Amino acid sequence: MTPYQHTHNGQPIDLPALGKIVCVGRNYAKHAQELGNPIPKEPLLFIKPATSAVPMAAPIQMPQGHGPCHHEVELALLIGKTLRCANPKDVDDAVWGYGVGLDLTLRQLQSALKEKGHPWERAKSFDGACPLSEFEPGVVDWASINIRLTNNDQVRQDGQTAHMLVPVRQLVAHISQTFTLNPGDVVLTGTPAGVGPLASGDRLRCELVGLCAHDTTVA
Ligand code: ZN
Repeated sequence: MTPYQHTHNGQPIDLPALGKIVCVGRNYAKHAQELGNPIPKEPLLFIKPATSAVPMAAPIQMPQGHGPCHHEVELALLIGKTLRCANPKDVDDAVWGYGVGLDLTLRQLQSALKEKGHPWERAKSFDGACPLSEFEPGVVDWASINIRLTNNDQVRQDGQTAHMLVPVRQLVAHISQTFTLNPGDVVLTGTPAGVGPLASGDRLRCELVGLCAHDTTVA
């Protein structure tokens, strides 16, 4: 696996190394529906460890022998200042910038683990399970981003952050009630509908339309 480091324009970002990636499941109603899941009453949180992160530009290494590996494109936030029990109004000041992340998921394994009531880390937190793009500094209007994943020139996921069940500032504040967010940590904000399996040779483009676009391939 290619080691991961936060970068902007190819240069390292002056922040501590990635500590953890805090993720939210089912933050878009249409995605919850496509997998036959109920819409949660409060954010469904989980963590991908730093060892799951790889640079998005490196070819994706899918684990073998565990069934399909699904793409979930997500708005990623890079934390620049500590957040603990924060208010939504304090969130923007603590965000260093934004990029895109892929919450790679071994869907069949995840379903089997969920059925047994087991934790799903093996399906979502394996080495390489979180390709992260470079980050752009600053904040934007979090509720007006068009997030898109194109696979082999076909648009597969095309969502609007306006449709998040829990919007960005409330989500990050909520996370910080349970998990202290440290400088260098990343938050993934959930995936819009259209998730699907990857295949060797796929060419992916992950973009926040008009803000940033990142290409990668599947090994
Ligand atoms: Zn996800």
